[in-house]
Order: sequence, then structure tokens, then C-alpha cells
Amino acid sequence: MRETLNILAENAKKDISGAASLEELKQIQVRYLGKKGEITAVLRGMGSLPPDERPVVGSLANRVRDELAELLASREEGMKVEARLKSIAAEKIDVTMPGNPVAMGYNHPLTLIMDEIADIFLGMGFTIAEGPEVETDYYNFEALNIPKEHPAREMQDSFYITPEILLRTHTSPVQVRTMEKVAPQVPVRIIAPGKVYRRDDDATHSPMFHQVEGLVIDKDISLSDLKGTLLLFAQQMFGPNQQVRLRPSFFPFTEPSAEVDIACVICAGQGCRVCKETGWIEILGSGMVHPRVLEMSGYDPEEFTGYAFGMGVERIAMLKYGIDDLRLFFLNDVRMLRQFR
Ligand SMILES: [Zn+2]
Repeated sequence: MRETLNILAENAKKDISGAASLEELKQIQVRYLGKKGEITAVLRGMGSLPPDERPVVGSLANRVRDELAELLASREEGMKVEARLKSIAAEKIDVTMPGNPVAMGYNHPLTLIMDEIADIFLGMGFTIAEGPEVETDYYNFEALNIPKEHPAREMQDSFYITPEILLRTHTSPVQVRTMEKVAPQVPVRIIAPGKVYRRDDDATHSPMFHQVEGLVIDKDISLSDLKGTLLLFAQQMFGPNQQVRLRPSFFPFTEPSAEVDIACVICAGQGCRVCKETGWIEILGSGMVHPRVLEMSGYDPEEFTGYAFGMGVERIAMLKYGIDDLRLFFLNDVRMLRQFR
């Protein structure tokens, strides 16, 4: 039996030093020291020994067991240290290595134009106002003097969520929200850039597009203030020799109303296919704020006057960059977008 124990101890030591992983070590521990392990089996068999040999074999078995347990523990510790060193080595960073190049993005042409428009008006003392894209019928239509059944609603075929809630069809509701907030204080001098939605989809219309709204209210604001502001804008956006022309028009929320043209950017006013030989191109709608709109939003139209305008950002960008199809802005074609780096 002593022989058996010695052989067993030798084999176990060989197994322990040959173990390649913590799992393997665990299996060796179970095989030799476990409840059904080989040492336990030897101790169980001691009953068949003569009584005087039992203590000798018993103490030998205990010694072998302790020795193996110690060996197992130290091998396990060694493996753990080794694993830690290996992971530290793997994580070592050479701070002198050159970094990985990061691909830089750049702004979309519409963002560039919106920023440019905002810069021009901020330079004239305007501030930026914002409003929700999901709007109520009241702010989108009623408060702008477009009651239900008004034919002007047909020009703005809308996406309704409920009969009273819709995606705003223009940035003009921001006018009303701004006036309600500050009335009857003046001056009001804001632009409101943002997304708007209409049920249109062709080469010059998209169901989602961008507008920049402008609103000024104060004492003694006149049509010449409007024209001067827009002339300055056109000259900064399209060149110092730019001209503007106001053409009478109709909007329910302004009176009088005017479409604003600039000299054709393609032919410089000489007449071409793009401007239909007129030499002029329309860029925005504008007018003096309708007295009823002022009144509904808390201003006395006898005391205050104001002007408002709204321009399509895509239209400005198409003219400025010579893009002939509005849908190109939304196709995410990097060959087109990369040109605006
Ligand atoms: Zn032209």
C-alpha cells in the first residue's frame, strides 16, 4: 500500500507540473484529492491492513495529500501571475507611435447655407428663435390669419397627425410664438431657421425642406426697412452688385405683400433660360405684418408695425451653388456632397 501511495504521489506531481491551464489543474485536484479521488480511495481501503500498519500508512497518505494540495496551490498562483503579466504586456501602449488617422466629416451644403444666412442676419442685429416642427393648427394657420376653409391652405398641402395637429408647413408659426412671448415689448428682431413639411415631391420640391423666417416689429417700421434689409442680405449672399426687386403679391399674414426677386445669378440680369428671359429670379416672400396678426399676438397695430419674410434654404443653395435638382441634397451621394468640403 505504501508502494501504491508513492506511485500515486509521483504521478500526481507529474500531472500537476504538466498542467497547461487552470481548468486542467482543477481536474487533477478532483482526480487525486476529491471525495471520489485516488487518495480517498487508499484511505478507505485501510480497513484491510493489519492494525499496526494502519497509522503508518495513514500518516503517509495525509502527508501525500498535504503535499499535493500545496503543489496545486502554488502552481495555480503561478498560472495566475503569468496570465496577469501576459495581459499587462498585451495592453502596453507605445505613446510614441503615430496615431490612426480619423476620417473627418464636413458640413452638408444646406447647413453651410443656413449658417451663412444666419451669420448675415446676426450681423444686422437679429437673434435666432426656434419652434416645434409638430405644430398646432392654431399656430400654423389660424394665428397667421389663415382660418379654416381659407383657400391659402390649399397651397400648403400638409401632413396632419390629428385634425388639430400637423407638421408645420412653414416657419411662420415661430413669428406668432415669439410675439406671444414678448408682446407688447419691442423691438422684435428674429430669424427662425428650421425644417418644414409639405406634400410635394418633384425636381424643385421635397416633402421636407428648410426655411428661414424673419420678423421685425417696432415703432415706425416701413416697407423701405424691409427692402433695405433684404438688399443687404442679397448683396452679402450673392455679391456686392446684387439688386432686389419687390413684386406685389398676396399672403394672408402680410399686407401689403411682396415677392422678392434678385438679379439672375446665371446671366447677371441679361436674360436666360433659367430666369425665363426676365433677368430676375424669385428668392423669397415678404410683406408688412398684417394688423390682424399683430393684434392676435398682443400688439396694438395702431402703435406698432413690422415686416416679415420667409425664404427657402434649398432655393438659395441651388442658386448659390448652381444645383439644378433639389433632390440631390437628400440623396446622400458623397460625390456631390464632397464638393462642399
Ligand atoms: Zn438669367
